Amino acid sequence: MAIKIGIPRGLWFYDYYPLWKTFYEHLGAEVILSRPTNKQILDQGVKNTVDEACLPVKIFNGHVMDLKDKVDYIFVPKMMSVYEKEYICPKFCGLPEMVVHSIKNLPPLIDVEINFNKSRKNLDETIYKFGYYITKDKGKIKRAYAEALKSYQRYKDTIKSGNLPVDGKFIESNNSAISNIKNKKRIAVVGHTYNMYDSYTSMNLLNKLKENQVDILTPEMIDFNIINKYADELEKKMFWSFGRKLLGASMYLAQAKNVDGVIYVSSFGCGIDSIIQDLFERKSRREGKIPFLLLTIDEHTGEAGINTRIEAFLDMIEWRNRNEGNLSAHG
Ligand code: SF4
Repeated sequence: MAIKIGIPRGLWFYDYYPLWKTFYEHLGAEVILSRPTNKQILDQGVKNTVDEACLPVKIFNGHVMDLKDKVDYIFVPKMMSVYEKEYICPKFCGLPEMVVHSIKNLPPLIDVEINFNKSRKNLDETIYKFGYYITKDKGKIKRAYAEALKSYQRYKDTIKSGNLPVDGKFIESNNSAISNIKNKKRIAVVGHTYNMYDSYTSMNLLNKLKENQVDILTPEMIDFNIINKYADELEKKMFWSFGRKLLGASMYLAQAKNVDGVIYVSSFGCGIDSIIQDLFERKSRREGKIPFLLLTIDEHTGEAGINTRIEAFLDMIEWRNRNEGNLSAHG
């Protein structure tokens, strides 16, 4: 019988899950994803995480709870760094320890360290370590990883061409099928992927914008080289990978002026967001003159309040485009 590997739908999920799913399936394992986030998963996560943790870590723990009695291993890598000379948030670095500390009676975790600040040889060893949970055949592991990289590239290309991975399923980012929309708006939605693309966490923001016939742009749809080019202009190098991506995107948007507004989705308790969102807002409002809305979400946020703020924001943009001579940047 195939070994069952559980992948939680949280944190790095929206960035990397096709890579790891393909990798383990090519090695002959059965990959089981936790269910899309729902109230039960959130409640389990809140109950099984220290109060001080940010909302996405609580949700991640809820997904681990969802998998724990169904699989042989749960995939919780220790993600230190995915780009040289940069780091991910400290909560990613300590994730396996936090999970083990918070949740009892877990199956073994696949908790290999990913650290691009170490040498290339170490990266090869890292891939073998991930594969050894299934096989000791290094050739097989290498081939599985080569397939995984192709799958990962296809996933990134699909997003870049305008498809948003909401809950792991693609929805189109624009309304091109509807040709007769008047005053069509284009909004950039920015933030951590696990906030934006998880429909429960974001209170279905992306689908709500689409229902309002808004075209959507996210940082994952912007060419990575362009983001890097703008991020390189920062006075001081941003050593948090998330921060560099978001600030590079904000500088690009401020200059390109190709959106009518920006919505930043943040979660309560995120140390990185508390700095980045402020810098992002300054770039958008002051330098780009682009309307900006910050949605900060925690486990107590009510959907009605979020709906009202989105509606008011869209109304304000429409009014602005009509009355201030600000012709829509998009069409
Ligand atoms: S970046 Fe922020 S939201 Fe994400 S895990 Fe770290 S503290 Fe939590």
